[in-house]
Order: sequence, then structure tokens, then C-alpha cells
Amino acid sequence: MTEIGASPMTDRSLPKMLTQASGMERMFPTLTPAQIERIAVHGRVRPIRAGEVLIEAGEQVVPFFVVTRGQVEIVRPSGTTETLVAVHGPGQFTGEINMLSGRPALLRARASEAGEVIELDHEHFLALVQTDSQLSELIMRAFILRRVELIAHGLGDVVLVGSNHCSGTLRVKEFLTRNGHPYSYIDLDRDADVQVLLDRFHVTAADVPVVICRGEVVLRNPTNQQIADCLGFNDAIDQTQIRDVVIVGAGPAGLAAAVYAASEGLDVLVLETNSPGGQAGSSSKIENYLGFPTGISGQALAGRAYTQAQKFGAQVVIAKGAKQLDCDRKPYAIEIDDSVRVPARTIIIATGAAYRKPSVENLSHFEGAGVYYGATFMEAQLCRGEEVVVVGGGNSAGQAAVFLAQTTKRVHMLVRSSGLAESMSRYLIRRIEQNPAIVLRTNTEIVALEGSEHLESVSWRAAQTGSTETHDIRHIFLMTGAVPSTQWLDGCVALDAKGFIKTGPDLSHDDLVVAHWPLARAPHLLETSLPGVFAVGDVRGGNIKRVASAVGEGSIAISFVHKALHE
Ligand SMILES: Cc1cc2nc3c(=O)[nH]c(=O)nc-3n(C[C@H](O)[C@H](O)[C@H](O)COP(=O)(O)OP(=O)(O)OC[C@H]3O[C@@H](n4cnc5c(N)ncnc54)[C@H](O)[C@@H]3O)c2cc1C
Repeated sequence: MTEIGASPMTDRSLPKMLTQASGMERMFPTLTPAQIERIAVHGRVRPIRAGEVLIEAGEQVVPFFVVTRGQVEIVRPSGTTETLVAVHGPGQFTGEINMLSGRPALLRARASEAGEVIELDHEHFLALVQTDSQLSELIMRAFILRRVELIAHGLGDVVLVGSNHCSGTLRVKEFLTRNGHPYSYIDLDRDADVQVLLDRFHVTAADVPVVICRGEVVLRNPTNQQIADCLGFNDAIDQTQIRDVVIVGAGPAGLAAAVYAASEGLDVLVLETNSPGGQAGSSSKIENYLGFPTGISGQALAGRAYTQAQKFGAQVVIAKGAKQLDCDRKPYAIEIDDSVRVPARTIIIATGAAYRKPSVENLSHFEGAGVYYGATFMEAQLCRGEEVVVVGGGNSAGQAAVFLAQTTKRVHMLVRSSGLAESMSRYLIRRIEQNPAIVLRTNTEIVALEGSEHLESVSWRAAQTGSTETHDIRHIFLMTGAVPSTQWLDGCVALDAKGFIKTGPDLSHDDLVVAHWPLARAPHLLETSLPGVFAVGDVRGGNIKRVASAVGEGSIAISFVHKALHE
């Protein structure tokens, strides 16, 4: 523990941001004496002195503290000043989501009055939340609500400097948002004082987006992996440890597999190229997932699942994907982006699918600068009050159109075929037909995009008349389906004609002969042509393209992983 002599200047004139939020008792619950006793069994009681720093911002793997006497304040340090965020009195506890993942602390915790705390180290804290379901629920809820408030107020350890007209800025925003990481944003186009900040870090406007990590490290147009490394998202991967199961992909299928595997005592590593949540993470509202009658955003669902997997002890590695599968020997090995190899007894492939792109010249130029593949709250803010285009006739296009129609002037829904997809849910078709802000244009396709830095106009052609129209529209949403992410498997498992992975009963006798299937038994349900390697969710041939089915498959696969491990 460190102690600071002269306390930095703490800005107490600002409101205590967190304490103003609704649901205060849930965010900062006061534990009962019986609950405190149950926690004390896992930790040690110790005195605290006024001014003593219990947790320093940036410190990795921090302890959990319950205040039993005195007071602990939570502040955000920034140079020589501090912003007061919250005050914990007797019966209250420190921490937020980072406590679970072991990522560096975002804020400083300091005793503002002498007293006493119960201290639990990371391991004992995990044991507590895994074994005491009542306390686990109370603590998890508080941690999640605290994180939501930190995000809402941009109270974190990252400053992003960029422009809304720059695709790199949107990528970084999306990466931080989808990883649930709070950040402050400075818009170069709107904030005149920004030059002072740039000068301080010797950054020119050409370097944007710029990410300032913990007030120290300045990253110029960084990759997602560089951001993840700088913010300490990932623990080092132990390459000598042979994992019971390596799960590739942290969409709904991979996260479900991680939750079940870790909760059943398996040693689990999850690899994710981008951010947890997969396609579902880009959905503004999922209304058909069991248990959420008023719907849930894909981001919220993914955030909860990610936290749940970590609570049970799964190691989840962000912005580091599988590059290659070494399937010629056992244990199998997965090569990761930076040439790290992880050995695995079994593997679950949950790499899902990537968006299909229409062949329009300069499409990639406008990606993130007017062309989007998901319609969430973030994109909706960018095109508020404007006309937009949604391309596609399936469920995700329908959802996007209905969602965007709430905040935009008009939604042009372009469908290449003669109508909405047969697979589209009835409730969506009705909402589209009844919404005067949505103009459905069938037999129509995008033919050109124009603009300089940002998309400025869109042209589409109606197949029946052959006529082309051009409109001053700055935002289009491509919701045109997806192709499976199987390139990295390089012939290791049998694929169907469209490149999806064949599993279980879909594998023919010939498939197994070609794959040299070595066992007397047939492949299990969800098992690929490689024993002990399973495929779940949208990457699997015959998948249902639903969050619930991906989650179901992820969980089912674990029962077969146990069997394969005992073989
Ligand atoms: C906009 C949108 C809205 C939707 N709305 C709904 C809905 O309302 N209800 C519903 O039931 N379904 C909905 N869906 C479908 C649902 O989201 C998908 O069926 C589901 O996400 C599939 O889950 P998955 O885990 O199999 O794959 P994905 O969600 O595709 O996740 C795969 C993950 O693997 C990662 N990955 C890929 N390659 C690698 C690699 N080599 N190494 C490491 N990681 C890798 C990807 O980055 C990704 O995170 C929607 C889809 C979209 C796009």
C-alpha cells in the first residue's frame, strides 16, 4: 500500500457524479452484519489511516475492501488534480468490473477517515463470488451499475482525440464502447482548446485518432491490439499450459461455452479478434432472447456474459485472434496473431460470420465514415434527424430500419429481391409496413457512393425501370448477411459448399474417410471431422442465426468436451 503525503487538489465543487445516479442503493449497497461476517471469512481485518491509498489508479489485480469503520473515498486522478467520484462508509465496498478481470484499476481509493476494512485478495474475492450466490448477485449488480455510470460520465483512464468524420476514430470508439471501457472524447472539429492538449503531447492533427492512455502513453492511430495492450486488457498467455479447452471467438456461442466450461471446473482460454459480443454486440435491441421481455441491447448482453465468464475464472483475451490451427498432432495448438502458440486438449470454434459486402467501388473508403454494419445507439446519434439507407431484407435489416426510424427523418430500406425475406419475423414486417418514416424499395440496389472524407451521396437503381436515383444521404447501413470466419482453419476440418463447418450427423462417411477420422465412434453432436474439435453458432453448417441457438450450442458443446477429455 502506498501513502500520499500531501493530498492532491481534489475537486469537490463538482457533484459526486456516481452518487447522483438513480438506483443508488443498488450501486452502493450497505451490507448487513451477517453479510459482512460471511465476507470476513475469506479475508483479513486491518486498520486504515486517514490519507492511506488502498488502491492506486493503474494498479493491476487490486484487492476488494469492505469498510467496517471510517470512510474510503474514490477519486479519479488527473495530473495534480482529482475528481471525487464516490464515498464508501461502513458496510459499503470498493470495486467495479475490473476487479473480476484483473485489469488495472481505473480510479484511486483512499481512506478519508481512519478506521478498519476487511481486505480480500483477487483469488479470495473470486472464491467468494463463485460460492456465495446472494453476495455474488449483490456485488455483481453494483459493479455493473458502477461501470455503466463511469461510461456515462466518461470517467476512465482514456482520452480519445478524433473527428466524427474519420473512420479510425469511429473504430476506436466502437472498440472501447464494445469492451465497456469508459473514455472521454475530444472532437477536433468542435473543441477549440484541443490544440493545447495536442501540443502538450507533441501530436499533430494528422495523427488522429489519438488515444491517451492513463494520462501518459500517447498512441497515434493505434490498432485495437495496441489499445488493448496499453489498457492492460489481457493477461500474458502461458504458452506452456495445455488448456482443457480453447474457445475461439467471443460472440454469444463462445461466451456461453466459456461460462459453462469455466463453471464446470475446466481450464478455459477464450481468444477474440476484436471485442466480446460478436454480431450480437452490434445489435441495438434483441427482443427475442428468452428472459428479456422488453429486449436487451447486444452490447449489454455481451457485457454481462463476458463478466459471467470471468467470474467463473475463464481467461478471455481481447484483440488477439486465432491465426492458424495446428491440427497434425495432439495436443492441438492454436497460433495467435503475434506468433504465440497455445496448446489445447480440445477446441471450440465459435468464430461466427462476417458481414457480406455489396460490390460497390470505394465502399471501404467510407466504412465508419458513413457506411456501417451495425445500427446501435452510437450510430443512431451520428445520423439523428437525417435521411438514411438500410440495405437488406432480413431480420437484422428490419430491426435496424425500425430502430433508426425513431430518430432519423426517413429510412430508405433497399431490398434487392422482390420483397422482405421469408425468414423475417412477422412482428418486424408489420412494424416496417406501418411506419410512415420507412420507405421500402424492393428490386433496388446500391450502385454508387460519393463523397470526400465522409459519405455525401448514395445512388441506387430500380431493376424494373432501370432508372438510377441519387440522393444526398450521408449514412448507409449494410445489413446484407454474412460469410463464415473459417479461413484460419486451412483444411483442418470438413466444410460445406458455402464454407460453414460440418458437424455431427452432417458429416458423411466420405467426409470422415477424407479426414482420416481415427476413432471407432461417430463424431458427437457439434463435433467436427477432427476429434475433440467442436463448432458452434453461426460458423456451423445448418446454424439458425439466432443468439439463443448460438448460446444453446455453446453450452451443449461443453458436455461433449468433458467426454472428449476422458477419451
Ligand atoms: C445487427 C444484428 C442484429 C441481430 N439481431 C438478432 C436478434 O435480435 N435476435 C437473434 O436471435 N439474433 C440476432 N442476430 C444474429 C445473432 O447475433 C447471431 O446469430 C449470433 O451473434 C451468432 O453468434 P456466434 O457466437 O456464433 O457468432 P458471432 O456473433 O459472429 O461471433 C463470432 C466472434 O468470433 C470472433 N472471431 C472471428 N474470427 C476469429 C478468429 N480467427 N480468432 C478469434 N476470434 C474470431 C469475431 O470477432 C466474433 O466476435 C443479429 C445479428 C446482427 C448482425
